[in-house]
Amino acid sequence: MLLIKTIQELQNALAKAHADGQSVGLVPTMGALHEGHLSLIKRARKENDVCVISIFVNPTQFNNAEDLEKYPRTLDADLELVNDYVDIAFAPTAEEVYRVPATEKYDFGSVEQVMEGPARPGHFNGVGIIVKRLFDWVQPTRAYFGEKDFQQVAVIKTLVRQCHLDLEIVPCPIVREASGLALSSRNKRLTEEERAISANIYRILKESLALNTTNVQEIKDFVAHELAKFDLFKLEYYEIVDGETLQPVQDLNDSDSVVGCITVWAGNVRLIDNIRYK
Ligand code: AMP
Repeated sequence: MLLIKTIQELQNALAKAHADGQSVGLVPTMGALHEGHLSLIKRARKENDVCVISIFVNPTQFNNAEDLEKYPRTLDADLELVNDYVDIAFAPTAEEVYRVPATEKYDFGSVEQVMEGPARPGHFNGVGIIVKRLFDWVQPTRAYFGEKDFQQVAVIKTLVRQCHLDLEIVPCPIVREASGLALSSRNKRLTEEERAISANIYRILKESLALNTTNVQEIKDFVAHELAKFDLFKLEYYEIVDGETLQPVQDLNDSDSVVGCITVWAGNVRLIDNIRYK
């Protein structure tokens, strides 16, 4: 595995692979890697000649300075975890990534006007900036994203369409702890007790699949009511949306693809998760 810090070195390292027509798989991450990330990396390894991971805590996608400051940074452990699977680990500094200032403005339309969009102003523009730059530098054949960030996948697919990029976006299923809690770098900031309680988020979502109703408001009320039984939780939103357009549905029968997306604060840690109804 090559550890690379600059854009020029990255492009040099990939030049031969591109010239030889080799396929390149890219897994963009912000580090603090866990089995969720590793599932994307293993798939990229399997499906491509060359496997590239980026590790970069991207400041332009944080709308909250404290979240950026507290975001875990564990580069040495990250490199050890991915060493056997990855050809290139690209871990640039913010100075390197933003030597050209981040003036790009994206408009992803309706997919960014719901859920995380209004909740985190500027977040998806920052995601668009870093992901488009990574795509330009790496020129991947395929790029791997986790369905844990369900809306992000829709935003990236929109980016690819809007910019006419010739690459495949590969969405990958959510990896969970045995407890059901979705793996997240932010879980590191939970105490042991908070982490145990946070397993209830997925339990409640799963229970909501088995309610005897297709009425979305009733399902949302159930989830809110069950979460409210725990002092630790503060529900930011639970939206049940069309899995393609991400627009809210009123009834599970309104679409062939329906996903519930949740954001819950467990103390001062913001957790997101989602579940598919159909
Ligand atoms: P992050 O480092 O949080 O930006 O995540 C990097 C990539 O890993 C994103 O595409 C995430 O959706 C994905 N990812 C994070 N956690 C999980 C998980 N528990 N299961 C599957 N993919 C995940």
